[in-house]
Amino acid sequence: MAPPAEGTREICPPAPSPREPYVTTHTPDRPRIVVVGAGFAGYQAARTLSRRMRGRARITLLNPTDYFLYLPLLPQVSAGILEPRRVTVSLRGTLPGVRLVLGEADRVDLDGSKVHYTGPEGRQGELEYDRLVLAVGSVNKLLPVPGVTEHAHGFRGMPEALYLRDHVTRQMELAAQGTDSPAERSARRTFVVVGGGYTGTEVAAHGKMFTDALDRRAPARWILVDIADRLLPELDRRLSSTADRVLRRRGVDVRTGTSVKEATEDGVHLDDGEFVPTRTLIWCVGVRPDPLVSELGLSVERGRLLVEPQLSVPGRPEVFACGDAAAVPDLTRPGEFTPMTAQHAARQGKTAALNVAASLGHGVQQPYKHHDLGFAVDLGGVQAAANPLGVPLSGPLAGAVTRGYHLAAMPGNRVRVAADWLLDAALPRQGVQLGLVRSWSVPLDTATPEQARLPGGPAATTRKD
Ligand SMILES: Cc1cc2nc3c(=O)[nH]c(=O)nc-3n(C[C@H](O)[C@H](O)[C@H](O)COP(=O)(O)OP(=O)(O)OC[C@H]3O[C@@H](n4cnc5c(N)ncnc54)[C@H](O)[C@@H]3O)c2cc1C
Repeated sequence: MAPPAEGTREICPPAPSPREPYVTTHTPDRPRIVVVGAGFAGYQAARTLSRRMRGRARITLLNPTDYFLYLPLLPQVSAGILEPRRVTVSLRGTLPGVRLVLGEADRVDLDGSKVHYTGPEGRQGELEYDRLVLAVGSVNKLLPVPGVTEHAHGFRGMPEALYLRDHVTRQMELAAQGTDSPAERSARRTFVVVGGGYTGTEVAAHGKMFTDALDRRAPARWILVDIADRLLPELDRRLSSTADRVLRRRGVDVRTGTSVKEATEDGVHLDDGEFVPTRTLIWCVGVRPDPLVSELGLSVERGRLLVEPQLSVPGRPEVFACGDAAAVPDLTRPGEFTPMTAQHAARQGKTAALNVAASLGHGVQQPYKHHDLGFAVDLGGVQAAANPLGVPLSGPLAGAVTRGYHLAAMPGNRVRVAADWLLDAALPRQGVQLGLVRSWSVPLDTATPEQARLPGGPAATTRKD
């Protein structure tokens, strides 16, 4: 098979026979850099490497989807504000000089310097590397609460956001058609979100506005539960009180200091003794690193791969890791690791790329150091809670800052996102469900939240810790 021309982009090259695995073309003249994962960290790493190496290395990006997903705007997809493609950015279209291979890494052979992967149509392949950047992100965190794995859905990827949008719409429509008992209708109009971090808070804030838009005459009940004594427990207290105030005023039932004891088909048992009849349990208690990294046999810290401040793996100078999957020492807070945020992941991706280039003789390795620039939590409508550079903001000013921040942070698709925001401000929300993502295809316990499960397909594999 002829090697691809310099600088071209390609998806998996055709295999010689359907049964034989894909093997990467050998290019002894140029070092081979493989980046696994195209989220905030991996996308930035690939982009920076392409600019820094300028054709002097063969850069391959392995990712199950052909897009970068801008996760912070996912709650707006589930609330019907943004069309799903708006929060995606094409990898092939925006990463010139980077070869995209579609697939999911199953195993890394550290001694053989190979990544084994499964492609979207189930075929196995392997990628040989001289330098490896692991940026596989995180998956839904599970807690040992009876019934949760069976009855809850997470919020970590596009399929879950699409499922939630359709499911919420369907519950509101079924409740409105009047064929169920009053108790059943009430359960359908009750939505329970567990976890008052930024994801759960945004999902509940947008969800309540969405159901109000779908049916003003019979408002739905949204309950937001968190074991902590305040919303947004990991953020500045002033952001917590803004979020609490906005959500309560909107009619969200905020239950702090409360947790779920058991989930059943009919509802949720809370630890204060109440049973809440519901058909919807949204699990936003946080994330855990992708299980791939804990299977490497290297040192981990709470499932995250331990790295040096230069983002290389101790004892494996050819392997780098960044983003949610890596435990990166926080040089601004000695003794701690950087939090799992997009802000850190994107910057770590860039540092990892520069250090990979330096390890190949282009530049000097630098430690990763970044002071938090603040956080922005979108509360729907014109409301938000933000603290850019430590200055607490609330109300429409925070809303404008938050939307401006997202537009600036997205690597593409900004005009389309802004256009959807304008349309949403001017037109009624579109209340239709396409029903393309079903409940069984988005299990909570999955190592691949970025892909909907297919019957018998490669994404059906769940890797359990
Ligand atoms: C709903 C939501 C809202 C958020 N809002 C904010 C916010 O407002 N601000 C903020 O700072 N952070 C926010 N975060 C957190 C932030 O999105 C993450 O910290 C960030 O995405 C981490 O970047 P990453 O590159 O490590 O992982 P990801 O962005 O998750 O990317 C991981 C990539 O690796 C791929 N991958 C996974 N496994 C494999 C495999 N085996 N083989 C190949 N590829 C693989 C995935 O498909 C994905 O493309 C939010 C998270 C969520 C879920």
